Amino acid sequence: MEINVLKFGGTSMADHQTWKQVLEIIKNYEYPVVIVSATARTTRQLVEAGQLAAQGKLKQAHEISESIKDRHNKIVADFLEENPHKKNKLIKDSCARNTEAKISKLNKLLTYTERQGTLSPQMKDAIASIGEQISSYLLAQCGLALDMMTQHIEARKIIKTDAEYGKANPNILQINQRCGSLETVLESGFTPIIGGFYGESPQKTITTLGFEGSDYTASLIGGAVNAKTIEIWTDVSGVYTSDPRFIPEAKPLKEMSYFDATEMAYFGAKVLHPSTLKPAQERNIPVFVKNMFKPEEPGTKIIRESTHDLDVLAMSFKQNMATLTISAYETVMGYSFLTKVFTVLERHRLAVDAVNTTEASVTIALSDSELLDQLSKEFIEVGSVTLERDKGLLTLIGCSVNSAKKLTNQIFETLDNIPLDLISFSKEKRILNLVIKNEQLIETAQRIHKKLF
Ligand code: ADP
Ligand code: ASP
Ligand code: MG
Repeated sequence: MEINVLKFGGTSMADHQTWKQVLEIIKNYEYPVVIVSATARTTRQLVEAGQLAAQGKLKQAHEISESIKDRHNKIVADFLEENPHKKNKLIKDSCARNTEAKISKLNKLLTYTERQGTLSPQMKDAIASIGEQISSYLLAQCGLALDMMTQHIEARKIIKTDAEYGKANPNILQINQRCGSLETVLESGFTPIIGGFYGESPQKTITTLGFEGSDYTASLIGGAVNAKTIEIWTDVSGVYTSDPRFIPEAKPLKEMSYFDATEMAYFGAKVLHPSTLKPAQERNIPVFVKNMFKPEEPGTKIIRESTHDLDVLAMSFKQNMATLTISAYETVMGYSFLTKVFTVLERHRLAVDAVNTTEASVTIALSDSELLDQLSKEFIEVGSVTLERDKGLLTLIGCSVNSAKKLTNQIFETLDNIPLDLISFSKEKRILNLVIKNEQLIETAQRIHKKLF
């Protein structure tokens, strides 16, 4: 059985018209397994409702949950009106019942959060996952109105994780076992529709895989069923040379390697969750990124080996970064200095994006958060600390080693009078990182893209 795993993101799930398009795309496959995100904006609104409840603003939080309910009821009503079917009344009632139950659960979680006066990571995950819980059920029901044999499958039964809320780690062994049941569903002629982004811990609590986590759900399932392809259907025609929202001349890449795509996602390209490629890579499954609204366009194919003869393949950027410079009290850095620095980072589970060292200091670039103030205090034991905020990180991916000199020359020419905080290049990984002021990031990215691509 050749299975295709298809994932549709928030914009693909925006309204009744896009739901129809999603279902029409699914019809083209013999054995599709479908993963869907929450409808556009829903996850953000859910988190906001949780935060409001924690601040004691329960009324406002409940207004959000009501608006989420109304929006989903309207999508279903509009869908059924445009796609008349004898079962419509039945479908509409079952959708309304399901949404009502989920919203009532959400309201209970919000009330609990208000009483606690804080939004715990566990509650945040339970609340944030409601969007996918609702959208996956409703889409499967709407499929019935098109005479499709769509069947909702609860993600908690399949995506087993640890209990690291907000960024849970999948239990691959259990996921592989649980995915066996999907093949039975497919063999009986049904199309499973599963909510992305969330799963379940050993304690049976809801966990999430991090923002944009539905991509990861898709590849975990794709790996488990040894899919023929994993297809990420979104609102752009593939992975572009850079974020097309900010760089209008950016072009979709025909092909790229798992490695380069992972680096791109990790360094800020929102089009993929950074862990997406791992399960695919392990089984050598090609991943396609395709445009929902232009399905005829080829999109990007991501595979193990992909070579190119360009100076540089793509560029990512990340806003809201900070740099921390720790200078050793002694003038020559002892060998334990870096260990001490990274031990503090490890304690807070903070990942570093770029590093630069001198004989007695280290500068690290990482995502900004409130934690960094505390971190600065902890570093005082190791050395004197300077924390600088409002930085941006720009990353060139897939740099040709032979072009390193040419690239750096062109970058310095482009930067002109823009002050540079940090620069690093790895020949092995073909990555070039630049840290500059946040406010100059987009303009600099546009200039560099013009010059290098
Ligand atoms: P979905 O809801 O389908 O998951 P996302 O909004 O998460 O969609 O991801 C698609 C968006 O990612 C695009 O609309 C685009 O703005 C953004 N993006 C950022 N970097 C890139 C890139 N290099 N290539 C393509 N899209 C990118
Ligand atoms: N709905 C979640 C988010 O907004 C997961 C996803 O869309 O991939 O991050
Ligand atoms: Mg996404």
